[in-house]
Amino acid sequence: MKQVSIIGGGPAALMLAAQIDTAKYSVTIYEKKKTAGRKFLVAGEGGLNLTFSTSEDALIQQYHPSGFMAPIIREFNNQDFINWLNQLGISTFVGSSNRVFPKQGVKPIEVLKTIVDYVAAHGVQFKFNTKWTGWNTQGDLTFENEAAVTSDIVVFALGGASWKVTGSTGSWKSKFEKRHINVLPFRAANCAFGVNWQTDFINIHEGKPLKNIALTFNNVLAKGELVISKFGLEGNAIYALSQKIQDRLLTEKEVIIYLDLKPKMTVNQIRSKYKNARRSKVTDILKNDLNLDRTAIGLLKQFTDKHTFSNPDVLVQTIKAVPVVITLAGPLDEAISSLGGIALDEVDANFQCKKIKNTYAIGEMLDWYAPTGGYLLQGCFSMGVALANHLNSLEG
Ligand SMILES: Cc1cc2nc3c(=O)[nH]c(=O)nc-3n(C[C@H](O)[C@H](O)[C@H](O)COP(=O)(O)OP(=O)(O)OC[C@H]3O[C@@H](n4cnc5c(N)ncnc54)[C@H](O)[C@@H]3O)c2cc1C
Repeated sequence: MKQVSIIGGGPAALMLAAQIDTAKYSVTIYEKKKTAGRKFLVAGEGGLNLTFSTSEDALIQQYHPSGFMAPIIREFNNQDFINWLNQLGISTFVGSSNRVFPKQGVKPIEVLKTIVDYVAAHGVQFKFNTKWTGWNTQGDLTFENEAAVTSDIVVFALGGASWKVTGSTGSWKSKFEKRHINVLPFRAANCAFGVNWQTDFINIHEGKPLKNIALTFNNVLAKGELVISKFGLEGNAIYALSQKIQDRLLTEKEVIIYLDLKPKMTVNQIRSKYKNARRSKVTDILKNDLNLDRTAIGLLKQFTDKHTFSNPDVLVQTIKAVPVVITLAGPLDEAISSLGGIALDEVDANFQCKKIKNTYAIGEMLDWYAPTGGYLLQGCFSMGVALANHLNSLEG
């Protein structure tokens, strides 16, 4: 039987291992940590958002570049993933925001254990505490404290470069660069962004949420919520814009994003509420007639001047587009995912490295982006399936 070595034991690797034909291949997963799926467990800490419930086309649109991800997602979409989990005995439910989670009461560790047990029962060997260190002069895989391994097929699934504690350090970058593979610099994605808050504002509003808001940047609209932190802004609405903001920060020192504090109302509706208000003090109107909370009003004050605040017509427009100045991205290690990694033109449609034969790369180590909402795990699991299908279809 041909040997397949999978390096890294995260979601992409586990799904590949679950789907690969073990009657055809002898498969070993090499994972440097003492257990698999550490980042998967971290992902579960705030609620394990496995995928997103929407149409296949809408799902694909969330990936960048969507052209690269489209065939992968079509091969194993959100419903296929849910069906697969159900077959393993993991029930799921769709939350109010269309995010898909394991059934209430099922812990992320149980989901992970079910998958790992399935992979082991499928005949795949696990080698934990086994850190891949590169290639020797014969092109064999080398490991810390282990003999070199010759393998017919090698699949790298080493993850991105955030949350290093989980094993995803991105330290594989230099090894691939030595093999002349273009690895784009890692940058934080789905991350916090820095705002220079006025001291008075942050002292009162640190930790406060801004719910049911929308953000716009560069013609992209993201609805959701934000949380005010000392550093700046966090939350799904800004995470969804993170790739675009990061790209702009490459060339500009500051980026202005526009915050809509009343996304469900038009400017005209706000204006008429304002005009019909019985109160005269602006803050009272904002609070009582427009239902803006103290944090929203404080933020409006921080990013507007006195003229705006005292001019109802301008103020009404500004409520729909508060210009928030972003100065930098949060630290890479604290980001939910990373931009950068192996450039997509370094691999073919089946994830094979064009410069190293029979060597593949899947998961977050490739340079693609998706917002939070289950898209990241869906993308990694779909890649695992797509590569397994390809390897299973190879002759001999
Ligand atoms: C805080 C947080 C919350 C998240 N929440 C969600 C969520 O709710 N929904 C969602 O879809 N996604 C979420 N994600 C993202 C998701 O967890 C990742 O996209 C996904 O785990 C990436 O999978 P992967 O298989 O590509 O790599 P990883 O999960 O990063 O796995 C890579 C593995 O490779 C191993 N490895 C690295 N180097 C070596 C080496 N030299 N030798 C051997 N092994 C090595 C690592 O130890 C690691 O186990 C979250 C991430 C974080 C950090």
